[in-house]
Amino acid sequence: MTYDVAIIGAGVTGASSAWHLSRYQLKTILLERWADVGFGVSKANSGIIHGGFHHPVTTLKAKLEIRGNLMFERLQHELGFPFKRTGILVVAFSDEEMSTVHKLYEQGIRNGVRDLEMCGRDRLLQLEPKLNPEVVGGFFAPGGGTIEPYRYVFSLVESARRNDVDLKCNFEVAEADRKDNAWVIRSANGEEVRARYVVNAAGLFADRVSRIFGAEEFTIHPRKGEEYLLDRNSTARPERVIFPVPTRHSKGVLVIPTAEGTTMIGPTAETVENKLDTTTSADNMKRILSHVRNMVNGISPRDLITSFAGLRPVMDNEDFYIALSEKAPDFVQAAGIQSPGLTASPAIGEYVKELLKSAGLPLLEKVHIVTELAPKHEIRHETLEEMEHLHREDPAWTHIICRCEKISEAEIVEAVRKGHTTLDGVKFYTRGGMGRCQGGFCTARIMKIISRETGIPMEELTKKGGGSRLAAGRLGDLKVETKQTCEA
Ligand SMILES: Cc1cc2nc3c(=O)[nH]c(=O)nc-3n(C[C@H](O)[C@H](O)[C@H](O)COP(=O)(O)OP(=O)(O)OC[C@H]3O[C@@H](n4cnc5c(N)ncnc54)[C@H](O)[C@@H]3O)c2cc1C
Repeated sequence: MTYDVAIIGAGVTGASSAWHLSRYQLKTILLERWADVGFGVSKANSGIIHGGFHHPVTTLKAKLEIRGNLMFERLQHELGFPFKRTGILVVAFSDEEMSTVHKLYEQGIRNGVRDLEMCGRDRLLQLEPKLNPEVVGGFFAPGGGTIEPYRYVFSLVESARRNDVDLKCNFEVAEADRKDNAWVIRSANGEEVRARYVVNAAGLFADRVSRIFGAEEFTIHPRKGEEYLLDRNSTARPERVIFPVPTRHSKGVLVIPTAEGTTMIGPTAETVENKLDTTTSADNMKRILSHVRNMVNGISPRDLITSFAGLRPVMDNEDFYIALSEKAPDFVQAAGIQSPGLTASPAIGEYVKELLKSAGLPLLEKVHIVTELAPKHEIRHETLEEMEHLHREDPAWTHIICRCEKISEAEIVEAVRKGHTTLDGVKFYTRGGMGRCQGGFCTARIMKIISRETGIPMEELTKKGGGSRLAAGRLGDLKVETKQTCEA
């Protein structure tokens, strides 16, 4: 068959485009090189829904950030991912920093951001008592917030699939030709997909994909950001996202109360050569700690539980590049989606849809669509009454597999049955393995459940697909008990 649209890359950009297109009478397919969706830049970021004041509205990224920000309530209502409008505080610790705060505030006003509030020291401390009392002033952007980015991507894709979008993982686009007014797209392992229109949403590799289709030549520069995660018991967790004044290349090092109850500090901003370099370093950890301890009281290195790095896909002009290709027919570029790409993503998908329409793709609305996903049970958030009810239905609901994050066997089974069959896929869907012990206790138990549910031998299970096998030898005789009742 020939699809109407093939979208290359299942991060927030591709997933949002697929979600928007799923509302129309089209056959759409999402192609992803990894074993699951959201495994690119979209899983390794600060998870902030930005406030629309960091960039001038003359840039495409600011326009889409401002529109995207306003679309999250409706999306959360329909798709149920963790998202909170915590508000953002931008804080200054000197008169010099205050002059940058004024400029940012005025930019926000010019951009049309509502409810921005300039604050003196006392008001800031009232809004966030954990701030260092030496703060001089700043402003409050109540429209900012935090989101769990992987759950957001998963739910966009789940909704798109419920509305007939196809998904092909382990499909790394390697070649493309034009035949009979359509694209013939070949994967590295010899599979073939045909589509009339193509969207390039390949993140860090959008430059390579553009070349494969004979479209525009450009270079994506990876800009690394290291993030450090604090235990959910850290007393330093603020109520709002705390921003310092920004630097030329980044929004600075932040303190982020994540949507799921932990605290994150970071990110750094460093241009690197290697698009796979996600290492973190002790020096950067010390630098980040010293920055954030100036802003918020009580941040302790003893609360650090893990670190990770993500790479921002940056174009030379620092803006998003979302446009119809002038060289390759029926080809949409959605490249250079660096920060605030997560915030802008609902609007990026809409923008991509409009570009496809302007290129001749007919958009006829479907008569029936599934708008809302069924609510997801999470035992850690249930009342005792609901827990008892779920336990009666299936004791796996109260059999806790991940003790730190309180994730039950039933939640892991649900993740696997929804197609998340790698350790990272289950981790990002359920939070199993994301707590203090970082999977020390539950990894083998989760592997056993994945193996039991899928029939994949333990030895062949992977962290994130490809060659990322979890076991070096035979594990057939490993005794891991997963069938006992409640230990919570
Ligand atoms: C450290 C850091 C912090 C950030 N913080 C924020 C924030 O707080 N708020 C915010 O709004 N933004 C933030 N961002 C930016 C945001 O994360 C990105 O803009 C966004 O995730 C980009 O999504 P994407 O879908 O374009 O790219 P990706 O998520 O990378 O998706 C591209 C996909 O294409 C796939 N792919 C690549 N090549 C091929 C191929 N040949 N064939 C098939 N598939 C292919 C990849 O595997 C990948 O899954 C941050 C970024 C970083 C790095």
